[in-house]
Amino acid sequence: KEKQTLHYEEIYKIRNRERAFISSKFPLIDSLGNLYAIGFMATDITERIELENRKDEFISMASHELKTPITSIKVFTQILQRQTKNTRIDNSKLYLKRMDAQINRLSNLINELLDVSRIQSDKLMLNISKINLNKLVKESVENIQATTDSHKIIVRGSIKNKITADKDRIEQVLINLLTNAIKYSPKGKKVLLNIDDNKDKIMISIKDYGMGIPKKYQAKIFERFFRIDDERHSASPGLGMGLFISKGIIEKHKGKIWVESKVNKGSTFHFILPKKA
Ligand code: ADP
Repeated sequence: KEKQTLHYEEIYKIRNRERAFISSKFPLIDSLGNLYAIGFMATDITERIELENRKDEFISMASHELKTPITSIKVFTQILQRQTKNTRIDNSKLYLKRMDAQINRLSNLINELLDVSRIQSDKLMLNISKINLNKLVKESVENIQATTDSHKIIVRGSIKNKITADKDRIEQVLINLLTNAIKYSPKGKKVLLNIDDNKDKIMISIKDYGMGIPKKYQAKIFERFFRIDDERHSASPGLGMGLFISKGIIEKHKGKIWVESKVNKGSTFHFILPKKA
């Protein structure tokens, strides 16, 4: 009717087996502008989808398998730390502290991989309770502020009443956005966090004065494992999981997350949450 080409995925049964296709259908129009037929082209993508599913399953299984040994290494490190607390054996205390920090990094990575798999298969569960968002913001900001001398995080605004949401998951989003704001603004000196109290929603905005994000990537950065592949962005380490997870968490709360950004000027990440999740 609209004389437009359409592209979409569809399933057909072929020899009693379901196969997935990516199809294009297009109108054939005669010299008078009348539609006289529809052209149709389809590519079988069944194997590709199966391979992708197997890869997702692998990531999920591998992260579960990795979690067990890491948990016991963590426990043994803590025991050693306790036992060496009052001793003065060379640098052992320092090394144990470093070991502990690296184990935390590793287990964060594994937890992120698990979260990616959960979101991908729509199995992310929320643990909803009444939360004091002002306090949660304050604690998250203090945590991140303690890791940096280069940036000052400034909080503006507050919200009157408690909201219902998953405390740990919202903290995870705040920490991810604040960490990114610092990571991707090596020359910036401040990060602003604004809380907006609307009628039945709240909006949190996190603004940095860093390298920014080109328009063409502003939607893509929320896709899993996506990282901007240029010299400046890829100078910071990461696996492109944080924003995918943040989006999954916010959308599970029936909220919205997006970015506004200008290259070399900085970025503002906004998210909206309903007060009653
Ligand atoms: P990671 O930072 O681990 O790569 P994220 O999912 O958190 O993963 O971010 C995806 C990509 O989006 C980053 O690799 C980076 O290129 C870009 N990005 C995220 N936050 C910012 C920001 N505040 N400023 C500029 N680019 C950003």
